[in-house]
Amino acid sequence: MQRASTEDRSLEDYESYIDDQQRRAIHEHADSLSDLRVAHVNSTASGGGVAEILRALVPLSNDVGVDTDWLVMDAPDEFFDVTKAVHNGLQGDEIEFTDAMRDTYRRVTEKNVAALDGSYDGIVLHDPQSLGMASTLATRSPETTLVWRCHIDLTAANPAFLAFVRSNLDPIDRVIFSRTAYGREITGIEKGVIHPAIDPLTPKNRPLSALSDGGTEASDLEEYPFDPNRPLLVQVSRFDPWKDPLGVVEAYRAVERSIPGVQLVLAGAMPDDDPEGIEIYREVAAETADDPDIHLLTDLPDAGINAIQRGADVVLQKSLREGFALTVSEALWKETPVVGTDVGGIPLQVEDGANGYLVEPRDLTTVADRLALLLENDEQRRRFGERGRETVRERFLIPRLVRDHLTLLSDVGTEFPRRE
Ligand code: UDP
Repeated sequence: MQRASTEDRSLEDYESYIDDQQRRAIHEHADSLSDLRVAHVNSTASGGGVAEILRALVPLSNDVGVDTDWLVMDAPDEFFDVTKAVHNGLQGDEIEFTDAMRDTYRRVTEKNVAALDGSYDGIVLHDPQSLGMASTLATRSPETTLVWRCHIDLTAANPAFLAFVRSNLDPIDRVIFSRTAYGREITGIEKGVIHPAIDPLTPKNRPLSALSDGGTEASDLEEYPFDPNRPLLVQVSRFDPWKDPLGVVEAYRAVERSIPGVQLVLAGAMPDDDPEGIEIYREVAAETADDPDIHLLTDLPDAGINAIQRGADVVLQKSLREGFALTVSEALWKETPVVGTDVGGIPLQVEDGANGYLVEPRDLTTVADRLALLLENDEQRRRFGERGRETVRERFLIPRLVRDHLTLLSDVGTEFPRRE
């Protein structure tokens, strides 16, 4: 297990993004947790939404006096093959969960518990990758409170994978989902909901004018292979079948018929724990190789993602299944309207006809119509953009998430130490 390093953050810097109630609650709960040690455990230090959240939540928790570590599992590629299959199974894929996969999973999770240094009063295990550590952790330190933070939509899970999750939940004190509906199939355990959030002060989300020198370079749209003066559609997402990059390409081709000169950017990272990325990237690259107006950009620095989300006329999030999609809040925060599918956490963020449009994932005609409608209407894009920023300001900024996490910990923590 590796300790992930994070840049220091101070809650004071968030003065304009926090209300009095949030500030009071954060300090009140932080005081009640001040003697405790907490760890968040996940499987990658960069790429994907969980790492994005922990990069802000962990230093801000420390800043208010809650001793918090971020631990990243050590795992070989074969483990990530298994956990990506588990992720896909939990999203509804019809795949088999073999004994060999279970063995790999058990071996690696147990090895990570063995490598865990020190003791913690509370441990938050993120997603299925680390859930398997729970039973060995509970045996080893029965006094530790365990939370499972599930970022995945379990509403259409493949039963074999759902059973696997259930079989690991016994030692868990509380499960936290991103939406209430995700936990419907999980019973006999305390559950809660925390909506994800974005950090307005990172190079990904702050105004371009506030970036440091290195960031300024990455944010110069003139340096990118597309023409910043022509209409631009963007999807920022891992190259993952559930993010439907080929569907995005199809929708783009339909838009191109009515909006000549429109361009498409698919920006995608390749996190360590997502072995499918390169395969899907190659598939999309082969499909789009002969179109000079489709650009696949990989592993952009945060300032580049920032600039592209701002430079886009419309951001797309054409997921078939989705946990939350931080990318939607990221775009809305930058006053870019979003056309998103009506799945997972997207409808929490996209208000149809107010800050973007919600569409059915398989209804490419409507996806293309909505994109064209927005591209043709500057005034509507401006209005939607303004509303989008307010949506995020009200509900999806990191101080609210820090408050929710500290509330959670102090709530489950009333039982610290839990098992006499
Ligand atoms: N991301 C990035 N570079 C990329 C693609 C994605 O930095 O090329 C970031 C994106 O900006 C967001 C996170 O990865 O902060 C993805 O989180 P989201 O909740 O949208 O999806 P997940 O990958 O967790 O399914």
